[in-house]
Amino acid sequence: MAKIYLDGEFVPEDEAKISVFDHGLLYGDGVFEGIRAYDGYVFKLDEHLDRLYRSARAIKLEIPLDRDEMEEKILETLRVNGFEEAYIRPVVTRGTGSLGIDIESCTDPSVIIISKEWEALYGPELYEEGLNLLTTTIRNQPKDGLPPTVKHLNYLTNVLALMQANTWGADEALMLDTNGNVSEGGADNVFVYRKNAVYTPPVINNLPGITRDVVIDLLNDLGYQVKEENLGLAEVLTADEVFLSGTAAEVAPVAEIDGRKIGDGEPGELALQVKEEFGKITGTEETGTRISQST
Ligand SMILES: *Cc1c(COP(=O)(O)O)cnc(C)c1O
Repeated sequence: MAKIYLDGEFVPEDEAKISVFDHGLLYGDGVFEGIRAYDGYVFKLDEHLDRLYRSARAIKLEIPLDRDEMEEKILETLRVNGFEEAYIRPVVTRGTGSLGIDIESCTDPSVIIISKEWEALYGPELYEEGLNLLTTTIRNQPKDGLPPTVKHLNYLTNVLALMQANTWGADEALMLDTNGNVSEGGADNVFVYRKNAVYTPPVINNLPGITRDVVIDLLNDLGYQVKEENLGLAEVLTADEVFLSGTAAEVAPVAEIDGRKIGDGEPGELALQVKEEFGKITGTEETGTRISQST
């Protein structure tokens, strides 16, 4: 049974519990990260820590560990479990408080670090066949509401989006923003290849994905400029290729959206190329932080 880091201690999974008065549970008041370790190295750990602390600042949440301590606790969680390859989920909640929504009663934020041996988000056959997406009627939050650029615990928008997609037989949701611009997948960023150019929506109506940045770099290395521009749904539906990026999903080609075949309805060549290049840079010293203590 895996051990979970919970407020300073490592506890077995079935004993890792927090109060029913935690505002993370009551109000989705908190932030989180999704990180992966490959082959003994935590991929882009600095970038994930950076985003975690920015997310916390955005909601005025003071993380009780400093950055170095958080980094150490993440690595320690993996060591305690003997994981070289894992999905890691740090969560910081507002902590236990009154039933009121104000943050004043919550003086003790909780820090949780879950790690699990977990394969890619979608089944292996979906990476070979390409995903089937449904454009959901659930719009991503507008930037003047719940900020879509902050990785917070208020995830019901995404839950409802995926639920609707799954209800209608699709593997993943495609979300628009409240202006009708394409925003992102249920929990991944979206890339569109059409007429020899690659596009991805600018990070104002979607989450600034670490994988998104990595994919942009890989595309640049392959000789493609990536245009960060707003896209309408028609531009996506008539694209030559569409693919998703995310820590959990990695790089996932899309074969169909709303009953339309994307390109020839098979994973695109560029998507597969990016996926392959992505596989080459994980689990290395250049992109990762070593789990085992250096001697
Ligand atoms: C975490 C997340 C992503 C992907 O970000 P990565 O850093 O690449 O994992 C995209 N969209 C949403 C809504 C997310 O929560």
